[in-house]
Amino acid sequence: MIASKGYAAQTPQSDLAAWTFERREVGAHDVQINIQFCGVCHSDLHQIKNDWFPGIFPMVPGHEIVGTIVKIGSDVKKFKNGDLAGVGCLVDSCRTCDNCKEGLEQYCSNHSVGTYNSKGKDGLPTYGGYSNNIVVHEDFALHLSDKLSLAATAPLLCAGITTYSPLRFWKVGKGHKLAILGLGGLGHMGVKFGVAFGAEVTVLSTSPSKEKEAKALGAHNFVVTSDLAQVAAVKGSFDFILDTVSAKHDINLYLSLLRTNGIHICVGAPSEPHSISAFSLLGGRKSVAGSGIGGLPETQEMLDFCAKHNIVSDIELINIKDIHQSYERMLKGDVRYRFVIDMATL
Ligand code: NAP
Ligand code: ZN
Ligand code: ZN
Repeated sequence: MIASKGYAAQTPQSDLAAWTFERREVGAHDVQINIQFCGVCHSDLHQIKNDWFPGIFPMVPGHEIVGTIVKIGSDVKKFKNGDLAGVGCLVDSCRTCDNCKEGLEQYCSNHSVGTYNSKGKDGLPTYGGYSNNIVVHEDFALHLSDKLSLAATAPLLCAGITTYSPLRFWKVGKGHKLAILGLGGLGHMGVKFGVAFGAEVTVLSTSPSKEKEAKALGAHNFVVTSDLAQVAAVKGSFDFILDTVSAKHDINLYLSLLRTNGIHICVGAPSEPHSISAFSLLGGRKSVAGSGIGGLPETQEMLDFCAKHNIVSDIELINIKDIHQSYERMLKGDVRYRFVIDMATL
């Protein structure tokens, strides 16, 4: 077994703290990655707090993992020692169902294996990227560009693909008015991709202080959602709303901002269910849809797109010992725009 160290929550009530554990030996198709940086996703916080479902503890969060390959199995074809590599939210899937065959491993009919808070095919719990290393099947490791900042590349592995995938699926681009609801980790990547794809992008935010930064990220317009006059001015105007909000919010208000046939795409995952009035949908043939991360082929496509267009996340690099303050700021919506842990501080 491989000795590993990281930060873990021992229970949903306890704070993250240093913890040592073991990972499996590098198998024939596995690679071992020395983790240099790991992004901090709001899903990490949801899961250590059991917001969604009872988790598997001790839990080492982290699914925006980047680093360098330090060991490869005898049958590995995709990587060699010294290559940069990334791991996102998935480390395995059945590979035989229709979704897996289509490269939609995130929708695996037989349950994909999450990078943490999940169990592998060997029945053992998986541990995430707030740690010094990870062992993963080469099929679930991604190639990274050495032209981009490695730390700022980490958030692409979740925040990046989660916003890229729905915008590509619904072919959002020139001629579309796209609203990004919530300007945090996912939201700021949604702005960057929406702009790169040619859409007119409006940020809908609870934080007036983020307006200048939203424009610097490329957004064309900014609406403070607590300002009724600003909200009234954009009623019936958007083709798509990409909803990245992590907490309870009233979707009916935002549905009124869609034009006829508009689509409200949920990627944010609050713990409480949404309550939607039929009248918010039927007056304008509107849809509410959802999208989960992205499959492996599309994640590689997104990373290659980012390398070509020089797109990375705007990050605050943190010492792992400051993870609790980062979570507190995240809960207040004070994220600019992704915390990334420098694993050298572990
Ligand atoms: P984040 O960085 O904390 O950003 C969330 C943003 O939502 C905040 O910055 C804030 O933006 C806004 N917000 C927060 N509370 C709000 C409230 N009560 N009402 C309205 N707006 C509020 O979080 P994240 O990492 O981007 O993740 C966002 C959500 O997506 C989380 O629920 C996460 O679990 C989920 N997620 C889903 C997937 C998927 O596959 N679908 C993947 C990753 C993450 P403003 O200050 O601009 O209002
Ligand atoms: Zn995530
Ligand atoms: Zn499958």
